[in-house]
Amino acid sequence: MTSDSEGVVVVGGGQAGFSVVSTLRAAGYVGPVTLFADEPHLPYQRPPLSKKAHTEAADLSVSLVPESFYAERDIELRLGDDVVAVDPAARTVRTRGGRSVTYAHLVLATGARNRPLPVPGADLAGVHALRSLDDALAVGRALTTARDVVVVGGGFIGLELAQVARAHGARVTVVELADRLLSRALSAEVEPHVRERHEQAGVRIRTGTSVLALEGSGRVERVVTSDAVLPADLVVYGIGAAPRDELARAAGLAVDDGVLVDEQLRSVSDPRVFAVGDCARHPHPHADGPVRLESVQNATDQGALVGRRLAGQPPARYESLPWFWSDQGAVKLQIAGLRAPSDDVRLCVGDVPERLAAYAFRGGLLAAVETLNWPAEHLAARRLLERRTPVSADDLAGTTLGALARARRAAEVRA
Ligand SMILES: Cc1cc2nc3c(=O)[nH]c(=O)nc-3n(C[C@H](O)[C@H](O)[C@H](O)COP(=O)(O)OP(=O)(O)OC[C@H]3O[C@@H](n4cnc5c(N)ncnc54)[C@H](O)[C@@H]3O)c2cc1C
Repeated sequence: MTSDSEGVVVVGGGQAGFSVVSTLRAAGYVGPVTLFADEPHLPYQRPPLSKKAHTEAADLSVSLVPESFYAERDIELRLGDDVVAVDPAARTVRTRGGRSVTYAHLVLATGARNRPLPVPGADLAGVHALRSLDDALAVGRALTTARDVVVVGGGFIGLELAQVARAHGARVTVVELADRLLSRALSAEVEPHVRERHEQAGVRIRTGTSVLALEGSGRVERVVTSDAVLPADLVVYGIGAAPRDELARAAGLAVDDGVLVDEQLRSVSDPRVFAVGDCARHPHPHADGPVRLESVQNATDQGALVGRRLAGQPPARYESLPWFWSDQGAVKLQIAGLRAPSDDVRLCVGDVPERLAAYAFRGGLLAAVETLNWPAEHLAARRLLERRTPVSADDLAGTTLGALARARRAAEVRA
């Protein structure tokens, strides 16, 4: 067993962990930096995994940076080396390989894992989850021969994959337990438009339907649902993710569906420990209570905030505007802000039929915006929401955010 001098130890080599270590060096931190990543691959981005089919790792240029980036910045990158225990009193982490590293500060960036499919037959060949690069390669290879694909879960990842499978010429059915698609993330007002576009692309959608069993001899051959038996030679499921907070829990840190952190992303139990990305539950000025967000924006911005702080910059609150995108075939869905279930949502149809925006008002003011195939309106929303520019429903009557912002700028110039 070895012992290293103190520095920053980051557990988890995903989008958030990478953001921490790259920001530390960019901000001038000179102490030791160690990044533990349990996967064998260089830190990579996940969004491309569900938006195209890939059969060879070489097809996928998903690495965030080349390997030389880490060596050049004296970042010790420990691939395939998972941390199995944290001892906050001794300020050490222990790896599966038996190495013990002492830290001045620890950042947990352990991400989330897919919820398992809790039905008989989920372990048959031909049944896949989609989270890691290795999952994506397995799904990509299966798609080269699959004829009947059943996607379990009508969330972002499932719907993206459904379009990828259609592009491969497969018959595709999405089975969703809730009575609509994207029920947690998207307003009920926009959902029918997303559904219609998937159906127009030939995806069959069965909402309000539960999967009871997967059947086949050795390989999956059919999916038994609450109202039909569907032929299937490939099943991909995406039924939500759970934070990987077990290290923190075992270390005695406060955890509640995510590592509990304060507005500076510091563990509420230990000021030397931070948590960022999918694994962190944090206060946010746009939310009523602590939230856990799963997005590239959140992972990147949180990692950068902690990286700057540990490099010696003044502590700052995490207040970045949440935003998100999902590319589902011809549908580009973008969300700015956090919509609450009680928000008043108004739809606005764009100047061309593919475009749509939904404005969510809370207390009479714009709080979140969902757009379909309308990147300019999404960007206008981000700018206005980031600056906390008040926009009321009356301001937006008969116009768009882009036009409103232009009109306000012109008025400022005239004044
Ligand atoms: C298929 C897919 C498509 C997506 N598409 C989009 C999209 O279009 N837009 C968007 O905004 N977001 C998207 N997301 C979400 C986004 O990728 C995540 O929110 C983001 O990757 C979170 O970053 P993270 O670093 O917190 O977690 P992760 O990227 O999950 O990285 C955490 C890493 O830590 C490792 N780890 C865990 N425990 C340990 C340990 N004990 N020791 C060492 N290593 C450990 C994990 O194996 C993992 O590699 C997508 C996610 C998936 C899975």
